[in-house]
Amino acid sequence: MGLLTFATADGWVYPVSESAQTVVAAFASALQRAGVSLLLEHKVTSIRKTLNGFALSFEKQPELQCTTLLVAAGGKAYPTLGSRGECFTSLAKLGHTVRPLLPALGPLSADMHLYQSLQGVRLDACVTLFDAGKGNASPLPLGETTGNLIFTQWGFNGPAVMDLSHLAARRPGAELSMLMNFLPGREEQVRGLVQSHRREPIPLAVIPGSSLPPKLCTFILEQCKLPPESTLAKISEPQLKKLMDWITAFPVKVSGVRGFDTCQVSAGGIPVEEVDSVSMQSRRVPGLYLAGETLDVIGPCGGYNLQFAFSSGAVAGMGMARTNLTID
Ligand SMILES: Cc1cc2nc3c(=O)[nH]c(=O)nc-3n(C[C@H](O)[C@H](O)[C@H](O)COP(=O)(O)OP(=O)(O)OC[C@H]3O[C@@H](n4cnc5c(N)ncnc54)[C@H](O)[C@@H]3O)c2cc1C
Repeated sequence: MGLLTFATADGWVYPVSESAQTVVAAFASALQRAGVSLLLEHKVTSIRKTLNGFALSFEKQPELQCTTLLVAAGGKAYPTLGSRGECFTSLAKLGHTVRPLLPALGPLSADMHLYQSLQGVRLDACVTLFDAGKGNASPLPLGETTGNLIFTQWGFNGPAVMDLSHLAARRPGAELSMLMNFLPGREEQVRGLVQSHRREPIPLAVIPGSSLPPKLCTFILEQCKLPPESTLAKISEPQLKKLMDWITAFPVKVSGVRGFDTCQVSAGGIPVEEVDSVSMQSRRVPGLYLAGETLDVIGPCGGYNLQFAFSSGAVAGMGMARTNLTID
């Protein structure tokens, strides 16, 4: 489409302009060149099956008829961008199952009373989410992710918790907690460093503290009741164990997932079993195609949701073209 891109070493691809608007312009131009008619800013209020296809009703414009129809109306996340889950009522009436819509890829709220001084701290962490389950003998691990994490006023944000949020959303009222390891991928190295300097007067703020943001290091030393001038040589084995436990298993009580307004996707929607994956045609309503977040598919942070929306949309478009050729 003529859009120049560049890739970063870790595999992210951006337009050279670094502006999403350039991507929109490239798509708009490709549609125009292909002779596609666009009807923008018109809300579909209902979708009805007719003898030869479908009828779409709008708020402010006469009904439209079509033989094949692709619904790619998104989910219910971030409603200010346009997707409010309004097409699911029509899809249910047409015969599809609609799984409950839940916020996903969103921040987690938590009791931050103890962590006020850490607001704004950002670092990479490996986070495990648990359900303490009322009758459970021990907390049940629900999922684990590694990524960037941000302490906020009301909880945690960043990919490390966003990728776990759908698991929390599926358990309303559960006793959820997280353990955070602030040494992802380097725990062995740091433990080795601690052991090799165990009898030396090296401040704890240097080993192991220098592997943490300074505010977090200060906070953990305070929790362990270790004065800032403490050294590796001076602390006892139980004190060292407690310190390493706080660094590698930092405990947090989770109170829930922030709402649809702040989540990037919604879990739930139409089950994938109800579409043919080769064409994205509905198995329940011939001539109807479904793609993107309208289907019950969520991926982790990192472009997987956009990729699924684009790929399933392309597959659906090709499937519809084949159907239309057969009709003609
Ligand atoms: C802030 C934010 C950041 C994100 N970042 C990432 C990311 O970095 N990587 C990633 O992979 N994913 C990301 N996502 C998720 C990703 O954007 C979505 O999963 C993807 O856009 C879904 O595509 P879609 O075409 O299925 O739905 P959408 O992009 O939601 O498009 C649906 C369209 O249908 C329209 N529509 C809905 N109902 C009606 C109706 N009744 N009548 C007419 N039109 C209607 C909507 O206005 C909208 O334009 C992000 C989402 C948000 C909100």
